[in-house]
Amino acid sequence: MRKLSMEELVAFCNQYGFIFQGSEIYGGLANTWDYGPVGTRLKNNIKDAWRYYFIQKRDASYEIDSDILMNPTVWEASGHVSSFTDPLLDCKECKSRHRADNLISSYSAAVNVDAMTQQEMLQYIQENKVPCPRCGKSNTQISGNLILCLPRNVE
Ligand SMILES: [Zn+2]
Repeated sequence: MRKLSMEELVAFCNQYGFIFQGSEIYGGLANTWDYGPVGTRLKNNIKDAWRYYFIQKRDASYEIDSDILMNPTVWEASGHVSSFTDPLLDCKECKSRHRADNLISSYSAAVNVDAMTQQEMLQYIQENKVPCPRCGKSNTQISGNLILCLPRNVE
């Protein structure tokens, strides 16, 4: 069986209406996708099968559908505010800024960064003298946190 290239796969998905680049007819938007008629049916079939197996089939399992915009207290209580942040480090030598998890991942593929706390990441960088990927020197300091939850103002 011949392997498809990424270009062939994308062309197939486009031609048969599975998936298109997001906002394609207006020039596209990087890293976004829209489902076509066939892709929408496929996605909904998978969702329905997942819902049936994990929710409807079980006796004490009930589904809710909440708005993604919630009172900030909900996000604090759920742990999203404290855990959806990554420490940022500034290289004192070349003034570049890096996420701690990316620094560790590019330094060693053997380390599971997803299982590390922020404190463990910072300790690892310090103990291993993880170098700056831009200048190669090991002289970083914490500059803040990158919050991965996007703030929204609702009036
Ligand atoms: Zn540097």
